Amino acid sequence: LLGYIGIDTIIEQMRKKTMKTGFDFNIMVVGHSGLGKSTLLNTLFKSQVSRRSAGWARDEKIPKTVEIKAVSHFIEEGGVKMKLTVVDTPGFGDQINNDNWWLCVNPHPPPPPPPPLPASWEPIGKYINEQYEKFLKEEVNITRKKRIPDTRVHCCLYFISPTGHSLRQLDLEFMKHLSHSVNIIPIIAKADTMTIEERLDFKQRVRKELEMGGVEYYPQKEFDEDMEDKSDNDKIREAMPLAVVGSDKEYQVNGKRVLGRKTAWGVVEVENPNHCEFAQLRDFLIRSHLQDLKEVTHNIHYETYRAKRLHGNGG
Ligand code: GDP
Ligand code: MG
Repeated sequence: LLGYIGIDTIIEQMRKKTMKTGFDFNIMVVGHSGLGKSTLLNTLFKSQVSRRSAGWARDEKIPKTVEIKAVSHFIEEGGVKMKLTVVDTPGFGDQINNDNWWLCVNPHPPPPPPPPLPASWEPIGKYINEQYEKFLKEEVNITRKKRIPDTRVHCCLYFISPTGHSLRQLDLEFMKHLSHSVNIIPIIAKADTMTIEERLDFKQRVRKELEMGGVEYYPQKEFDEDMEDKSDNDKIREAMPLAVVGSDKEYQVNGKRVLGRKTAWGVVEVENPNHCEFAQLRDFLIRSHLQDLKEVTHNIHYETYRAKRLHGNGG
C-alpha cells in the first residue's frame, strides 16, 4: 500500500490556525429578574475561566440590569486567544411582581390582566436575530472579510427559579420559543436555597416538564453524531438542569481563598463540586462542548435563519 501521506497533520495545522486567529465565544443569560444572572456572569469571570485576565472591577455592587448589554473579555491561555462575550439581559416578566400593589388597596381584587408577555421577550429574540443578520450581511458582502467577527449567541443559559414546584408557563413558552433559534441550557438558579434531595427531585421534575412541553435544549439528542456522543451527552442530559450558585465574593476556607456565599452554617463554595454544579457547568461550556456549541449554532440555528431570510420571509 501507499506510504505515509500525512493526513494526520491536519490537526497540527488546525491548531496553528486557531492559535493565530483566535476565536469568538458568546454566552447569553436569560430569566426572571433577581435569579442571579448578572452575578453568575461575574462568577464565570472570577472563577478559573479568567483568573489570569485582568480588568474586571472587583467588589462592585451589581446594578439591576435594565437593558441588553454585551461585555467582551480577551482571554489567552497556552497561546490560544478567545474573545469571550457575555450578554446580560434584563429579567422579563418583572411586571408580575410590580403589579401587586392592588393587593394592599383591595383585599379581594379581581385578577389583574395578564402581563404583556411577548413585549418583554421581544428584545431578547431581536438581539439573537440581529447577530445572525450581521453575520449574513458579512457573508454575502462582495468584499467579504477573511474572517467574519462572530457575535452570534452560542449558548443561552436559561435561569429557572428554585421553587421546587412546576415551571412557570411563561418560562416553558419562552424556552420553547428561544430553542428554535439558539442553544438553550436550562439551569437551576440559587441552588444553595435547596437541599441536595430537593435539588434532585426538582431536576427530575423540570426535565419531565420540559419534555412534556416539547422544549428541546442543548445538547439536542438529534444532533448526537455517534454512540460516543450519545453516551457522553446522555450523562449530561441526565444531570440537567445543573444546579448552580453564583457569587463574586471571596472567603477564606481551609487557608484558601474561594468564591462563595456565607451562610449561618458556613460558606457555600461556588467551585466545590460537593456544594453545587457551577464547576460542572463551566467545564461543560468551555472544556467539553465549546466547539460543538459553535458548530450547532452555525450549522443549525444560523442556517435556519439564513434559509428563511434568503427565501424572503423572516428577519
Ligand atoms: P439578576 O436580576 O438575575 O441579574 O440577579 P442578580 O445577579 O442581580 O442577583 C440578585 C440577588 O440575588 C443579589 O442580591 C445576589 O447577591 C443574589 N444571588 C445571586 N446569585 C445567588 C445564588 O446563587 N444564591 C443566592 N442565595 N443568592 C444569589
Ligand atoms: Mg441582572
